[in-house]
Amino acid sequence: MNLVKLIEQYGSEDACRNALAELRWPDGVRCPRCDTDKVTPYAKRDQYDCRECDYRFSVTSGTIFADSHLPLWKWFLATYLICESRKGISANQLKRTLSVTYKTAWYLCHRIRAAMVDDEPALLSGIVEADETYVGGKLPRGHRTKKQVAAERMENKSVVLGAIERGGKLRVRVVPDARRENVHGFLRDVVADEAEAIYTDSHRSYRGIADADTRHEYVDHSRDEWVRGQIHTNTIESAWSLFDRAVIGSYHKLSKKHLQAYLSEFEWRFNNRENPYLFRDTMTRLVQTDPLTYSRLVGKQAA
Ligand SMILES: [Zn+2]
Repeated sequence: MNLVKLIEQYGSEDACRNALAELRWPDGVRCPRCDTDKVTPYAKRDQYDCRECDYRFSVTSGTIFADSHLPLWKWFLATYLICESRKGISANQLKRTLSVTYKTAWYLCHRIRAAMVDDEPALLSGIVEADETYVGGKLPRGHRTKKQVAAERMENKSVVLGAIERGGKLRVRVVPDARRENVHGFLRDVVADEAEAIYTDSHRSYRGIADADTRHEYVDHSRDEWVRGQIHTNTIESAWSLFDRAVIGSYHKLSKKHLQAYLSEFEWRFNNRENPYLFRDTMTRLVQTDPLTYSRLVGKQAA
């Protein structure tokens, strides 16, 4: 897929609608309410009537596209641009590209982002690297001791935990702090029981993560030890540096409230970086994702 092909294939509302119908109902149209295939096209308005439950619906009913006033081709173009950019796209960039208001672009980005979530993530196995990183936080002003500066910086930052299977997928999660219970909880959720080993740095929160099936090995950065044979955390650290560049390059600042959404987008793109069908797969997720209203998005409490 490239931009020319995108415009050729999805340049009209009809083409977009047909494409979405094929992605949503590969085996024929079904009623979103009662799941019957006894539906009658109501062609003039591009809708369908369910003969079982009388529901009238369209290809976008009950999906993330619901209640959108944007033409579908703008959705297709925005999704394409977000998939293609290695570092993500800001709402401001999208505003200019699509000739829409900032609010529309921002809301659109967030709805596409909401669909970029792997809803059945496979557990990580083999060799897994785990690490924590800190995102955001302002530099305190005025004179402080080094220790105070570090403490204040940390206070404003969000803690993000990550784990990556070597040669496999990345998982990331925002947590309230890097204490042991959060770190262990995250690793229990994302790493398979039979994983061979977890490699980390010497952060105390990782202690005790080993069990009968899974070794835990760490390198001690405080002693300038970064690699010991196969043991290092370079893979997860290069994922963090990519995320840092995306944050600095595209988003400038991330609100704590929406950080998990940005991370999910990053995770999705990272895990699909060699998937030639990323655009199609993302569009499929869009027609499979529940609506996200503007009020729910702006009113959502910080995690
Ligand atoms: Zn029905």
